Amino acid sequence: MINRRKFIGQVTAGVAGITIAQAGFANIIVPQKKDKLGIALVGLGYYSKDLLAPALQLTKHCKLAGIVSGTPSKIESWQKQYNLPDKNCYSYDSFDSVANNPDIDVIYVVLPPSMHAEYSIRAAKAGKHVWCEKPMAPSVADCKAMIDACNKNKVKLAIGYRMHHEPNTQKLMQLVKDKTYGKTTKVAANAGYVDPRTDHWKQKKSLGGGVMGDMGVYPLNAARYSTGLEPIAVTAKASTTRPEIYKEVEETMDFTLEFPGGATAVCQASFGKSMNDLQVDCAKGWIKFSPFSAYNGVNGVASDGMKLNAPIENEQSTQMDDDTLAILNNKPLLAPGEEGLKDIVVVEAIYRSVAANSRVKI
Ligand code: NAD
Repeated sequence: MINRRKFIGQVTAGVAGITIAQAGFANIIVPQKKDKLGIALVGLGYYSKDLLAPALQLTKHCKLAGIVSGTPSKIESWQKQYNLPDKNCYSYDSFDSVANNPDIDVIYVVLPPSMHAEYSIRAAKAGKHVWCEKPMAPSVADCKAMIDACNKNKVKLAIGYRMHHEPNTQKLMQLVKDKTYGKTTKVAANAGYVDPRTDHWKQKKSLGGGVMGDMGVYPLNAARYSTGLEPIAVTAKASTTRPEIYKEVEETMDFTLEFPGGATAVCQASFGKSMNDLQVDCAKGWIKFSPFSAYNGVNGVASDGMKLNAPIENEQSTQMDDDTLAILNNKPLLAPGEEGLKDIVVVEAIYRSVAANSRVKI
């Protein structure tokens, strides 16, 4: 017999339950203590296959419990590789019945950005916590709808900003907060790689493509955490060196952000150039990283010689364990939906600046 205090404690700890029918009672959820939360990945492309699924073999507090895909052959090979039962594998059409599956506590949306809002909202309605990859969604309206759906269904919403879980980046955030080197005066941040693909969602507007969402959120987010402020104006310019491939969206985005108090951030993101560096100039010193947003080997140094190059076992497993513990202990997430939304507010302003070919206020 489970007493009330224990029952509530288990429920708030985020444990799943099994439903039993008892004479004289409606269906009763009996909480079952789980040693790890079950994660279902939606979209089995590059990031799920090469990074998240392997990282879920390293996590201490969560595990790969299910998958959602539109490709039956992928489901079959994942089932074999990760020993996943039929009942935990869904197509995009059958996905909503995950509501009845106690093995799955969290839905991790790893689809093209145009699909993030739909699948996050469906997951929330199914009563599952939501983790959603960056960029959160193509529009502020979508981001707000995602946050509302999660609030309404009392589930948590985390955005896949792995740098918020990376120790050297966390140290930078703390140095900025403490003003260890004084107020931030200027940021320079660049992120890009050469994408050789010629027919991919990253080149399609309707799927949320364009470098600004995919890579641009790294320098944009870094500019925000390196100042600790929200930008008040932006001047942006989009360009491409491969117009035959980047017909609908930009290959490169240059944007300059203005912050309250006079700090500026000069940023670039590109699918045509390999770069990954961040320089933060402050009133009494500087901090620079190269790289600043890589999967591993984040490497920083400050003007007084302090090194910011602590190793991390695995960024993705650290992120997923942090987010699981936030769910289990009902604590704030390091990168909740509101953080993703703040970037998309700026992304929308960046596109307005490109269209107007002028500085726009945010
Ligand atoms: P991908 O193209 O390799 O995979 C996308 C998946 O979505 C595929 O399995 C594809 O079959 C599926 N899909 C379903 N409907 C689709 C449609 N209409 N068009 C195209 N694909 C469709 O992409 P990816 O690199 O895995 O990126 C997925 C998400 O993860 C994106 O939001 C991306 O920005 C993000 N991502 C994040 C990181 C990170 O470091 N946090 C790294 C890579 C990708």
